[in-house]
Amino acid sequence: MEDQKRSRVVLAPCPDYEEEKVYRALREGLGLLGGIGAFAGPGERVLIKPNLVRRADVSRAVTTHPAVLAAVARLLREAGVTDVAAGDSCGIGTAADAAAGAGIQKALKPYGVPVIEFTGAGKIPFDGVQAGSFYLSREVLEADALINVCKMKTHALERVTGAVKNLYGCVHGLHKAKGHTQYPSADSFARMLVDLNRLVKPRLHIMDGIVAMEGNGPTSGDPVSMGVLLISEDPVALDSVFCRLIHLDPRMVPTNYHGEKMGLGFWQEENICLLTPGQDGPEELSMDEAVRRYGREAFRVDRRKARTGLWVRLARVFNLFQKRPYVDKNLCVKCGICVESCPVEGKALHFADGRKEPPVYDYKKCIRCFCCQEMCPHKAIKVK
Ligand code: SF4
Ligand code: SF4
Repeated sequence: MEDQKRSRVVLAPCPDYEEEKVYRALREGLGLLGGIGAFAGPGERVLIKPNLVRRADVSRAVTTHPAVLAAVARLLREAGVTDVAAGDSCGIGTAADAAAGAGIQKALKPYGVPVIEFTGAGKIPFDGVQAGSFYLSREVLEADALINVCKMKTHALERVTGAVKNLYGCVHGLHKAKGHTQYPSADSFARMLVDLNRLVKPRLHIMDGIVAMEGNGPTSGDPVSMGVLLISEDPVALDSVFCRLIHLDPRMVPTNYHGEKMGLGFWQEENICLLTPGQDGPEELSMDEAVRRYGREAFRVDRRKARTGLWVRLARVFNLFQKRPYVDKNLCVKCGICVESCPVEGKALHFADGRKEPPVYDYKKCIRCFCCQEMCPHKAIKVK
């Protein structure tokens, strides 16, 4: 954060993923925060944390785009940083497989940056607001500097996934699935994510919003051009600018609301200093001007107000008025990945008749974590 009152967020326009354009946009944008050298230096071990949720073609906007990761790697190299790796603990499969699917290894190779698999470091105690410990990945603990390079996407549980949510990949392997049963509501999950951000303390957050994902995110939505990179030391402020660009009240995203309450950053506009590279140096943009130039009102995201208080308690007891996943029978290929990814003991969805029919839900057991929807590789699980 810049000071006690305002966090700087840089909006660097970039129309497409042509490598040189992305590199220049990121270099100029980072220049407004002192350059990448202000966040990592020679002799330090740097870990780049992309969004590698699972293997998908780069055109689907599921993962951070390779051109953005290549630009980060190139800037680090130019700043004399040599010990750099990129890694994630994927929802399904390996980081290498997810990265290969999107062409990330190929893009990072010229800069000598490998894609690594995370290994478990055991239980790390943490005196958090929500979480008492985390099963972190060793590589995250061993890095001097963590650079979070997230993707601008929608999310069934938290409405959007951005900088704060992307850090969940620092939790090792199957412990991520268990976390959903430990923190089943959007609020408890968000508070846990804020605790996690406070524990791993990335030095810098970069959001790939050149092409975002709208609709049935974070893996089955539709790509939509937004034409921006967002850069900040404050993940809450960064995610809040993302919300404003898609005409979503930032307060409706639990990681923003709890993130500010728990001291991670700011969601309120008066506490955000929005900068953009101008022709004669840095230009301060008002949020309204940013929305006018780069916003997209038609962006498809869950905008319904969350019910609170008595409504929530009644809805939980009677299993009513809650979002729920369902299978589109026309798209399901009966692969079973959704069943495997369900973290609930005894599974909240199963094949009723061998694999002759798509899996069916037991909504009484379902905790609405939406892991099944996130992991379905065929866009067959929707939320209603
Ligand atoms: S993961 Fe998707 S395609 Fe596979 S069984 Fe589940 S719903 Fe069907
Ligand atoms: S069925 Fe899907 S949404 Fe329900 S608990 Fe299992 S993975 Fe989560």
